[in-house]
Amino acid sequence: MLLIDCPFCGKRPEVEFHCGGEAHIARPADPAQVDDAIWAEHLFVRKNPRGLHAERWRHLHGCGQWFNALRDTYTDRFVETYKAGEQPKHPLTETRA
Ligand SMILES: [Zn+2]
Repeated sequence: MLLIDCPFCGKRPEVEFHCGGEAHIARPADPAQVDDAIWAEHLFVRKNPRGLHAERWRHLHGCGQWFNALRDTYTDRFVETYKAGEQPKHPLTETRA
């Protein structure tokens, strides 16, 4: 069974969690000045790397908190979890060919 390390509760079974998609997506600073193409990219275009990926996760059947995780999409290994608003300690540069 895959265990995910919730930054608030510790390691729990993966069935308690829900993935919320890519992390660290910044909203445009001045939304009124953004055209439709940039809005569409902001809302719908996401990275899909083979390797490390920063994702938002929620401990849905536990504390209910949102947090971020670095997960290797190739091995499904969680490299690191950290609270929302923080940056990962591990560099986000590893990708697989
Ligand atoms: Zn938790």
